Amino acid sequence: MSKIKDQLRRLLALQKHELKIKRLEEEQEKLPQELEDFRRDVEKLKSIVDEEMAHLQEIVQWRDEQERHLKEEEEQIQKQLEYMKQVNDAREYLMVQKSLDNLKRRAKEHEGEILSLMDKVEERQKILAERQAEVDALMKKVARREAEVKKRLQEIEQELEQVRKDIPPLEADIDKAYLRTYRSIARKRFPPMASVENTICGVCHMGMPPQLANQLYNPPELLRCPHCGRILYMEEALEEA
Ligand SMILES: [Zn+2]
Repeated sequence: MSKIKDQLRRLLALQKHELKIKRLEEEQEKLPQELEDFRRDVEKLKSIVDEEMAHLQEIVQWRDEQERHLKEEEEQIQKQLEYMKQVNDAREYLMVQKSLDNLKRRAKEHEGEILSLMDKVEERQKILAERQAEVDALMKKVARREAEVKKRLQEIEQELEQVRKDIPPLEADIDKAYLRTYRSIARKRFPPMASVENTICGVCHMGMPPQLANQLYNPPELLRCPHCGRILYMEEALEEA
């Protein structure tokens, strides 16, 4: 193998390691953010359900209050009915009768209201129980995800440590001038190397003169993409023994 091809292989190995570092660092940054977004969505849902629960509690209290009124009215009705038995005076009888009618009308109104509140409460309780179950399941999922993310972040930390350790020996095997070129391109655009297929740069996807692409079978020096400036290589040329 020619010296240039050998150097290109080493540069590619370096790039492969650096791409891996980049991927791991991106994952390291993305995972906690995704987890936080997920947690926030679930918290939001939970607070909506909590609010609805509180609202339902108010309705239940209102219904209980109406039931207390009804009970009082029913007791009064009983008392008035008892009292009526002892009334002899026609005028008073009529008055008691009138008050009794009023009480019965109010009791009937309260009864109707209680019935409709009971339907409402039952319906909402059913819906809220379902939502609460969904929220509970999501909270569990958040906790599971949290554990997964924690584990993955530890793995990433270890992988990064290993890959970073591998970089200096790789660099040591590369010609200093080539390494400088690689580094100066990498600072501006990463990755700094691009494969070529059918005279197209694999990273910027622009075409190049066929003579340039042909030279990659046996490059006389480091060749660079006329468009993006990346160091070019031909996969199949580097595969040869
Ligand atoms: Zn290019």
